[in-house]
Amino acid sequence: MVRTRFAPSPTGYLHIGGLRTALYAYLYAKKHGGRFILRIEDTDQNREVEGAVDVIIKALEKAGMHYDEGPIVGGDCGPYIQSQRKDIYLKYAHQLIESGDAYYCFCSKERLEDLHKNGATKYDKHCLHLSKKEIEKRIKDGEPYVIRQNIPEKGSSTYHDEVFGDITVDFKDLEDNILIKTDGMPTYNFANVIDDHLMGITHCIRGVEYLMSTPKYNLLYDALGWERPVYIHLQPIMRDATHKLSKRDGDAGFEDFLRKGFLPHAIVNYIALLGWNPKDNREKLSMEELTELFSIEGLQKSSSIFDETKMRWLNSLYVKELSADEFHAAAQPFYKEYCDGLKIDYKYLSELLQPRVEILSDVKDKTAFLYSFDHSAKTPFDFALFENKKWKTDTALAKSIIDDCIAVTKAHGDNADALNAALENIAVEKNLKKGQVLWIYRIALTGAMATPGGGTEMVKLFGKPEALARLEKVKSCL
Ligand code: GLU
Repeated sequence: MVRTRFAPSPTGYLHIGGLRTALYAYLYAKKHGGRFILRIEDTDQNREVEGAVDVIIKALEKAGMHYDEGPIVGGDCGPYIQSQRKDIYLKYAHQLIESGDAYYCFCSKERLEDLHKNGATKYDKHCLHLSKKEIEKRIKDGEPYVIRQNIPEKGSSTYHDEVFGDITVDFKDLEDNILIKTDGMPTYNFANVIDDHLMGITHCIRGVEYLMSTPKYNLLYDALGWERPVYIHLQPIMRDATHKLSKRDGDAGFEDFLRKGFLPHAIVNYIALLGWNPKDNREKLSMEELTELFSIEGLQKSSSIFDETKMRWLNSLYVKELSADEFHAAAQPFYKEYCDGLKIDYKYLSELLQPRVEILSDVKDKTAFLYSFDHSAKTPFDFALFENKKWKTDTALAKSIIDDCIAVTKAHGDNADALNAALENIAVEKNLKKGQVLWIYRIALTGAMATPGGGTEMVKLFGKPEALARLEKVKSCL
């Protein structure tokens, strides 16, 4: 059975590159009726962030990637948090020492620094030849030590990666990496092998940064007599041709995008396509469709550049598909932030905005007009906005248009169609263009050039009494 895993370090933040790795592992497992496992790689205790595991679990849940085994849900291969597996790693480290594939190293930080200062590019196997007796004594004396992998000095190793093909690395280019640190915790270089094996991982899907160190891991598989998994390394998501999309650029986290008002599945859909192509070039795909179409052959060897504009476009398609109630609910935090506590029909505002926003934080710009009309100012807004020469030079005309607008709003303010017809009629009577009257009407009601919808919609949004109060205010300023 196919078993894949997502193995994040708990940094308190889920980069969308990490989310994409998780997604591909999830899709591959689901496509093949397999299981998707979550493993927390927290052996670097310095980097531990409180609540970070929760961040990851919540993110996967929001993204719609249900994991079959992992923290909280458990499973047959637990614990799924590496810091709780310390003894397991030690057991195998000792086995490797027995077989000569690993060794104790007591070298001090100073010695290692000197080594590098003197031009060494890797550890010099200094402790490989310590006698058993000496090792025992130094351990007994409480000297700190690490356990290192014993890489052969000659030869090379080749393996097949499903994306990058055959990868060969010379042993002379590999260092005797630390497997167990002085605190007794394993390094990633060790724990990934032990856990992938013990957790029955069949396909190891991870970032390309591990492509060249995989031969080292393969030596460990071989030394322990274990079968290697299938390897699938992924190119990173780039900000531009030469830079990775990184946390430092801000806003590279899944949560950052959710906060900006992207919908979880729109993000998932977009990142799925950043590094993988479905054969038929379809772009809007549900999780079921992604699962059905996903294939290793579609993974790209080249990296892809993140394009937020494209993700916005995709998001807008999902926004339009929400029911009115779903959109209204999703918009609430943004209303709270950008236009809270106004006397308007918020449900109707949602109706006006749903077809007009790409991401929910567009609410900010799209509702700016709600603050353009200032009742308390001498003139409620800059009348230059009317942009109608005749209006500007002919005050009598201006007044009479507003008078008519007030009259039709009084008569038809509760009926958009009738109101619209009446406004058109004003244009006919005054020998103006229909658009001119509608333009004046909308500006008079809002004091804004851009509104989601015309004057009649604004009357509905504000309610008839408020609309009339605004028109009267404008009139009083003419
Ligand atoms: N903890 C590793 C990382 O976050 C996981 C790599 C892997 O998937 O093996 O990069």
